[in-house]
Amino acid sequence: MENTPDPAVREMLGHMEKMGCETCFDRFDKQKPHCNFGMAGVCCRNCNIGPCRITKKSPRGVCGADADLIVARNLLRWVAAGVAAHGARGREIMLALRAAGAGVLDMPISGVEKLKKQPLSWESPQKEGLSTDWQW
Ligand code: SF4
Repeated sequence: MENTPDPAVREMLGHMEKMGCETCFDRFDKQKPHCNFGMAGVCCRNCNIGPCRITKKSPRGVCGADADLIVARNLLRWVAAGVAAHGARGREIMLALRAAGAGVLDMPISGVEKLKKQPLSWESPQKEGLSTDWQW
């Protein structure tokens, strides 16, 4: 907790500790020491022949996948899972922004000052060479 730079997070963690509530930080510490194969990304559990771990003695999994393939494949699978889990919310935000840009969004915008501080480009999509004729 003392390594947390954000005072609001420190306050929240102190509050959670007083309440006796376990946080992700507590669970992270309880997981130590972490598995070196997992930390290096060279553990594969993508099929039931494994799990396979890459070492000097065994530089390929049972299927022949080497460390590069296992790391790249794991990353792509995580990205695909993340998009599948969160893509719908991103789509809703894009639709809302599009409607706001077109002036047809019947929803008040709160936190205008905070919004103005965001590093967003307010150039028009046409100026950026993007189509505004989206079909969803
Ligand atoms: S390395 Fe190949 S054989 Fe081993 S778990 Fe992954 S996919 Fe299966």
